[in-house]
Amino acid sequence: MKNICVLGVTGSIGLQTVDVVMNHSDEYHIVAMSAGKNITVLKDILTKISPKHVCVISEEDCRHLQEEYPHIHFCYGEQGLIKIATLETVDLVLNAIVGFAGLLPTIRAIENKKTIALANKETLVVAGHIIMPLIKEYGVDMLPVDSEHSAIFQSLNGENKKTVSKILLTASGGSFRDLTRDQLKDVTVEQALKHPNWSMGAKITIDSATLFNKGLEVIEAKWLFDVDYDQIEVFIHPESIVHSMVEYNDTSVIAQLGTPDMRLPIQYALSYPNRLPLMNSERLSLAKVGTLHFSSPDMERFHALELAYQAGRTGGSMPCVLNGANEVANSLFLNGKISFLQIEELVESAMKAHHVVGNPSLEELIEIDAWARQHVMKQLGEE
Ligand code: NAD
Ligand code: MG
Repeated sequence: MKNICVLGVTGSIGLQTVDVVMNHSDEYHIVAMSAGKNITVLKDILTKISPKHVCVISEEDCRHLQEEYPHIHFCYGEQGLIKIATLETVDLVLNAIVGFAGLLPTIRAIENKKTIALANKETLVVAGHIIMPLIKEYGVDMLPVDSEHSAIFQSLNGENKKTVSKILLTASGGSFRDLTRDQLKDVTVEQALKHPNWSMGAKITIDSATLFNKGLEVIEAKWLFDVDYDQIEVFIHPESIVHSMVEYNDTSVIAQLGTPDMRLPIQYALSYPNRLPLMNSERLSLAKVGTLHFSSPDMERFHALELAYQAGRTGGSMPCVLNGANEVANSLFLNGKISFLQIEELVESAMKAHHVVGNPSLEELIEIDAWARQHVMKQLGEE
């Protein structure tokens, strides 16, 4: 029996994790979970699962919930997240929080020797240079939940890492894959939120439309698989069937395929190195799919992807600036405050204004993240 702590249980990944765990309740037990502000969804989860510990964002929610569920230990805020991610009873922390907020609990969980199943890619984008050495130091496993990285991880199984020549990262292209830059000027939030292949949280759906998501994934892949940026190539693959590939020095390419279902990479991160049946899932029928398409992204059209490569290659604190500025710009677009193309303009502006710090500490990253967010707000004339 594996005891699991799910951070961000009320989100898209969190809810699918609950589903996977409930389908294999003889293997996994959720002993702790965190939710944000969506208390209605949290209460619904509590009708199906009884964790010992629950963390929420606000103290007030914490107090009310404690009265209503006296048998559960409630906590709140960042300290609460750290508390549940480091509980002695927890074996594995599945981090499905969105954004920079996932960083500190990941670090503390590693320091407490928890296996990490990582959906929260922002953690690696911002602090890969801190996280990867820490993983080695504490001898813990970090298992990717992101579908592309899970595919790469699976394609690397049993291989000699030194023989890898390239990571071939696939991208659906998001909601606006077929639009020209000119057509992107007037797209709406509603249109951006309609992803053709995946149903996900709002932030990552917008990131998929801008292609910042793929950019973040390039940086995530660099850290997870210890390759150079020149070794990571992105392909637009509209069908989202080939979840990513690895090319070896003998020209062999190994891929992982499947119907788009996030429960598979979630479950694999829990069951690794084992495999378990995936309940109620659709099997891939290549005959039904018929044709698969691949093309190289036009970096001018998908400028966000170019910015992410630039930030990654610059290194140091630059990916933190890219991420922080993007988090704010993404949320401003979602709230109807800026246009779609302004997202990348604001990120680029923050990157241009930033003086890079090499090898930034956690404290420096927290300051730089705050600076990037403020920079974006200042550009809009808001403090
Ligand atoms: P989501 O918005 O649906 O859920 C996010 C969860 O985090 C919620 O439970 C929310 O309450 C919680 N949360 C948000 N801000 C918080 C904060 N400041 N403190 C504590 N908790 C907070 O997001 P999602 O789509 O499930 O994505 C989660 C992470 O997984 C992201 O990093 C995303 O990039 C990654 N990811 C998601 C998918 C997907 O299919 N949804 C696929 C690959 C990777
Ligand atoms: Mg992905």
